[in-house]
Amino acid sequence: MSEDTIFGKIARGEIPADIVYEDEDVVAFRDLHPQAPTHVLVIPRKPIPTLNDAGNQDAELIGRLFLAAAKVAEQEGFAEDGYRAVINCNANGGQTVFHLHVHLLGGRPLQWPPG
Ligand code: AMP
Repeated sequence: MSEDTIFGKIARGEIPADIVYEDEDVVAFRDLHPQAPTHVLVIPRKPIPTLNDAGNQDAELIGRLFLAAAKVAEQEGFAEDGYRAVINCNANGGQTVFHLHVHLLGGRPLQWPPG
């Protein structure tokens, strides 16, 4: 159950996180192990384990995750320079926490493909 993941606990305010943005649908907080000068995770308050588990009813919510990522990029001052906003899904995607999240990476040029 994704309610029981560490991100579910962060979304419910049960454990601390360095929150940079929140609203009624999403929470954004700094990654504990940043892979770029700024690395923020944007999660829905609703527990959805993976992108595969999202349905049509979640279409707007997923849009809100990315709009929140763009807002944080603006806040952090690298919107114009550019950034990456990605979702990892399951084992081959490198997903380790099964509560849907967007990684926002910025603050330096990022390699593509990511490997
Ligand atoms: P993923 O591999 O896509 O599931 O991403 C999970 C991310 O969560 C990793 O980048 C971890 O560094 C990060 N992470 C794990 N626990 C925490 C936490 N308590 N607070 C912030 N970031 C975390």
